[in-house]
Amino acid sequence: MTNILNIDNKLREKGLRATAQRLMICKEIDKAGHIDIETLYENLKADIPSLSLATIYKNMHSLVSKEIISEVNLKGRKTIYEITIDSHIHHVCKNCGNIEDVPFDTMQILGTIKELSGKDIQDCKLTTYGICSKCTN
Ligand SMILES: [Zn+2]
Ligand SMILES: [Zn+2]
Repeated sequence: MTNILNIDNKLREKGLRATAQRLMICKEIDKAGHIDIETLYENLKADIPSLSLATIYKNMHSLVSKEIISEVNLKGRKTIYEITIDSHIHHVCKNCGNIEDVPFDTMQILGTIKELSGKDIQDCKLTTYGICSKCTN
C-alpha cells in the first residue's frame, strides 16, 4: 500500500495538480492493488454520482503518461492499472485469479537475456502463475 500523502507529492513532482478527482482515483487504485477502469468507475461512482467515465479516462491518461499509474496487461484479461512501484513480478493465482505483486528486479533477468540473445532488449515484464498466498493458507 502506498501512502496517499506520497501520491499527493508525486503528482506535484510530475507537474500534475493534485485535484480531488486524481487523488480519489489514485486512492481507489491503491486500495484495490490492481483494477480495471470499469470497476474503478463503479467504485468511485458510489461516492461521486456526478463522475463520468470520460473524466476517469481523461485523468487516467495523464496519470499513466506521468507514470504515476502503470498499465498492466495480462493474457486473457482486461487491462488493469496499478500505482507505479518498483520493479516486480505479477503472480497470478490459478485458483482464484488474484494478482500478487512480488518484488523483483527484472533488470537482472534482462541482463541475462541480453547476453544470451545479443538483442537490444530494453524492458521486461514477468508474470508467474501458481497459487496465491490467500489460497495457500
Ligand atoms: Zn488465490
Ligand atoms: Zn503490480
